[in-house]
Amino acid sequence: MYAVLFDIDGTLLLTGGAGHVAFAETFREVFGVGEIPTGISFAGRSDRAICRDIMQHSGIEPSVENWQVFFEDYRQRLQRVLSELEGTVLPGVIDLIETLEQDDNTAIGLLTGNTEFGAMAKTSAYGLGGRFAFGGYGDLRTNRNDIAADALLAAQQYARGAEGERELCGTMVIGDTPADVECGRSIGAYVVAVATGSSSVSELAACGPDLVLADLTDAEELLAEVEAAAQRHCP
Ligand SMILES: [Mg+2]
Repeated sequence: MYAVLFDIDGTLLLTGGAGHVAFAETFREVFGVGEIPTGISFAGRSDRAICRDIMQHSGIEPSVENWQVFFEDYRQRLQRVLSELEGTVLPGVIDLIETLEQDDNTAIGLLTGNTEFGAMAKTSAYGLGGRFAFGGYGDLRTNRNDIAADALLAAQQYARGAEGERELCGTMVIGDTPADVECGRSIGAYVVAVATGSSSVSELAACGPDLVLADLTDAEELLAEVEAAAQRHCP
């Protein structure tokens, strides 16, 4: 089985900043933090790491208990904010997913800094719910490379468990930030960078992915790699 792991924000879809809005509301209402401190980046990072950084900058103990308080409130706000903001599925995403779904040797999963709940809420809100069989998420991890390792393990377990005795024979990571490129490298994946999020084609190219795309409408080379990798490695 060949696994294709998708990042969510800026790769599959744009929510109009739902995560940021829900984070800001939760910190304001629950922790009394007026504004998210400037300089805390959201792109390509795990929710757990973003939460920790905001707490540290705001004099709040970044404890497990405070994470749980944050998350209980955040999940409810995120659901509401997702329904209020206008976002979009990015160009080429639906066609690419449908093409990959037709390939019996390929399975698609998620590799995201979102919590698992946030990942399900965002994909469901944009009609992509139920299409990703496994994933790595940002509930526990502050380092994206660790999330990539989780996603790889989940893909290996899915390959063995779902269809008998299959082995994972290759992995592709598709994401929109330098952090996606780095974490894809860290698990030995073929890395596709797509410039539909916060980084430009040239910024992404400088990180050394295997392939850089302006958007996912131009997926011929990506699909050719999936096919070639399956022939090279998958029995
Ligand atoms: Mg992203």
